[in-house]
Amino acid sequence: MKKGLQFIGFFVVFFITILIVNTVRIGSTSVEIQNAELKQVNIQKAVDRLSKGLKIPTISKMNSDNIEYIHFNNFHKLLRNEYPGVFKTLDVNTINTHSLLFKWEGQDQTKLPILLMAHMDVVPIDQQSLDQWTYPPFNGTKDSTTVWGRGAMDDKGSLFAIMESISHLIDLGFTPKQTIYIAFGHDEEIGGNEGAKFSADYFKSQGITFDFVLDEGGGISNKLGMGIDKQVAFVAVSEKGYITLELVAKDSGGHSSMPGKETTIGILANAISKLQANPLPPQLDGPIKHMLNAMAPELGFLPRMVMANQWLFGGLLDGILSDNPAGNAMVRTTTAPTIFSAGVKDNVIPAQAKAMVNFRIIPGDTPESVIQMVREIVDDPRIEVRQPDGGFGRDPAPVSDPNSDQFKFLSYKIQEVFPGTVVVPGVSPGGTDTKHFVDLSPNIFRFSPIETQDGDLKRIHGIDERIGINAFEKGIQFYIYLIESLNQETRL
Ligand SMILES: [Zn+2]
Repeated sequence: MKKGLQFIGFFVVFFITILIVNTVRIGSTSVEIQNAELKQVNIQKAVDRLSKGLKIPTISKMNSDNIEYIHFNNFHKLLRNEYPGVFKTLDVNTINTHSLLFKWEGQDQTKLPILLMAHMDVVPIDQQSLDQWTYPPFNGTKDSTTVWGRGAMDDKGSLFAIMESISHLIDLGFTPKQTIYIAFGHDEEIGGNEGAKFSADYFKSQGITFDFVLDEGGGISNKLGMGIDKQVAFVAVSEKGYITLELVAKDSGGHSSMPGKETTIGILANAISKLQANPLPPQLDGPIKHMLNAMAPELGFLPRMVMANQWLFGGLLDGILSDNPAGNAMVRTTTAPTIFSAGVKDNVIPAQAKAMVNFRIIPGDTPESVIQMVREIVDDPRIEVRQPDGGFGRDPAPVSDPNSDQFKFLSYKIQEVFPGTVVVPGVSPGGTDTKHFVDLSPNIFRFSPIETQDGDLKRIHGIDERIGINAFEKGIQFYIYLIESLNQETRL
């Protein structure tokens, strides 16, 4: 008996030691960060130019016949007029009529170039919500703190910040060591198949690859939640894949006066309920692990212990993360039934019921594995699970290594420009133009150096999109500092 107790006592001590050692091991790993010396920029002029850009309704529409390309021509004209130095110093090419590609030749041809990206198109305005906008969405309204309008954050803020930074550096007589390419797409919001894809094809045809690529994606927010009370810069090192599946229930139909036990509607509804009750499994070993590791040092002892001991608390962690839509989207392929259609008349049993379910695929899953899992969950031979006509499946983007020198470089620059910020790598739930560039660099980072305030993220694609003038200024200074830092002998 005594021996038994001794053994249990020993085991408990051993167990607690492992928990604590793991917890302490992922304690703070931060290196000494020196605050950046930021360049003074003429923010008033920069705001004026951004405001002019927001006035131009460069709207992407799913049906490309409805796109008014004249606005894109006007947007190009505006850039040309406002940034003559950039257009004179850099090589500028128009790609597939409306995307732009700039090349700033570096002095050192032995170094791989870098690529900065942004897009000039914006999503349409939901006409039903138009009267809820504080200012008209294409007015470019500016007040003392804020510039308002569709595209302010997504993504003209970054686009103008990049143009301002290049223009500023040219005025200072700066020349980069490493060649810098800049790609502005014109159809990111509808997949980038006419813009970014053509730019990527151009690079492929020229045999050009990149040291790293920086495009829109995560931002800097003071509210990631989860117990971190510092600013968080979210740098996406991958983006989720995509597939929509069609679920079809077929039966003989008939008159509603003598229905069978289940109609096609009931059969299909049951399948959809099963999918909602059985979320796809979490992928706690993928990029989410990098994310949790980056966050862990900032957390209190108990949450840190949970993160450091996923072998024991994996289930608990999944439960906590899955509790809200954003956390859930980070850990697993999400399941979203989006269309349900059946029936034409109230007294006729439909012979067929159809639903569409959209999945955003986490690294670790694939379109094929999702189809397989959906069939297993639905587990009903009366339901056909298939891809709709014209549907496509896209794999998640390869995961860029957050331990690479390129990621570290970017991470240090973020912390130097935004002191006290925690840089967290993760997966972008939405798609960006970088999906076309995955073969062109192992280091693709999706991050906009724009600080957001509470609620700003909801405004993207929504009502009252806006950018803070201080945040825009800091964004310009970030790009200037990043490009200057590329010229330093030792980047890390
Ligand atoms: Zn965007």
